[in-house]
Amino acid sequence: MKIIAPLTTKKQGQIINKVNMEGIKPPYILMGNHNSYYDLMVLERAILPNRCNYVVAIDGFIKREWLLRSIGGICKRKFTNDVNLLRHIKTVLKNGDIMVIYPEARYSLCGTKAIIPESNAALAKMFKVPLVTLTTHGDHIVEPFYNPKRRKIKGLEATLKCIATKEEVEKLSVKELDVRLQEALEYDDYKWLRESGILLKDKNRAKGLHKVLYQCPHCLTEYEMSSDGIQLKCNHCGKTYEMDEHGVLHALEGETEFPYVPDWYEWERNNVKKEVLENRYHFECPVRVDALPNAKGYIDLGMGKLVHDMNGFKLTGRYKDEDYEVILLAKDHYSVHIEYEYLGKFGDCVDLNTLNDTFYVYPKCEKFSVTKMSLACEELYKYLNNKI
Ligand SMILES: [Zn+2]
Repeated sequence: MKIIAPLTTKKQGQIINKVNMEGIKPPYILMGNHNSYYDLMVLERAILPNRCNYVVAIDGFIKREWLLRSIGGICKRKFTNDVNLLRHIKTVLKNGDIMVIYPEARYSLCGTKAIIPESNAALAKMFKVPLVTLTTHGDHIVEPFYNPKRRKIKGLEATLKCIATKEEVEKLSVKELDVRLQEALEYDDYKWLRESGILLKDKNRAKGLHKVLYQCPHCLTEYEMSSDGIQLKCNHCGKTYEMDEHGVLHALEGETEFPYVPDWYEWERNNVKKEVLENRYHFECPVRVDALPNAKGYIDLGMGKLVHDMNGFKLTGRYKDEDYEVILLAKDHYSVHIEYEYLGKFGDCVDLNTLNDTFYVYPKCEKFSVTKMSLACEELYKYLNNKI
């Protein structure tokens, strides 16, 4: 990747802006936003000719542990607190290299910033090296999480910016560093598309969008949206929207409730929040479960049952004549990773991580949305920690 990245991104007309980078040399910590695999290519080009190490999730390297090790990846399970990580970061910085962290710990669902906990700023403060950010714009449009097929768009932008020098990292409080980090990693790829004037000509630009926009804003029905080509449709009331070449939605008839995808998504979040505030959020469903204890491959645990409610996630099942139970308390988990049509195998899933295992949980009921589960996880955490 280190060799092909500069060539590929150059061919795509990738623009890389550098701000406050004069005199900034490794070792430093680099935090970036994360929309697609393409982000890594942009990063490799942006930091040329320097070397870097990544904090990576184990599932990106199944049966490819050698690759994980050869690119200098530090393995971690998503959304877990791992003390070994600190030791590894120390070594990377001691070697004079760049430590790359994607603090969202997930791909963005609709091209906007996911939650970045303050612990990232606290981590940066611990190491007393410059804190640099790489914010890409348009990567979600090129390879959206809901339909990750590369589209041909030229002129994507990225900004490599030193947001705190070594001296500033030492002087500023965690809160002050966090403000700078949150600001620098702010992005909205749909807004960027509208303002850039670049056209999204792909004939399947709305395909898969119903995975994110699972609730109809007209009749309020959940889980009955579908999408194909440039259209998004509610199969319950029939209301249909088309996405134009600027990424803007238009109702074919009547009012367009949300022309912008992120606004629709945030409206859904607000509806989930109401369920949480009224103490009535509850989801329960038979599930297919795969476990991933190491990078050698998945273990089929057969069928189980998932309950997601005001307490958090509870997965139960039976494997090799023994009952098992996995509990993730809502108050301890600020976010959860989900996948749409994961590996093209068993459909959408939610990944539940413990320190030494990851469970891929595929709901097998007729109507559900892993997007809603992810929104509920975030709203439950805020509610139970008195943040809303
Ligand atoms: Zn409807």
